[in-house]
Amino acid sequence: MQTAQLTSTIRCPHCGFEKKETMPADACVYFYDCAGCGQRLSPKPGDCCVFCSYGTVKCPPKQSHCGCSHD
Ligand SMILES: [Zn+2]
Repeated sequence: MQTAQLTSTIRCPHCGFEKKETMPADACVYFYDCAGCGQRLSPKPGDCCVFCSYGTVKCPPKQSHCGCSHD
């Protein structure tokens, strides 16, 4: 049984504003508008979503692909 974390705190690279966000359980978020400065964030090269690039927790799809899920 795996427990994916669905909340991540995104930190804006432009202004440093941090905001707790709920992630969709099975989707990647490519664009995120910073609530602090209004800049649109997009994933860094090699990352699948803004949560992997700027969040404290990786996105749920990444979490479940760790290879450690036994049934
Ligand atoms: Zn910002």
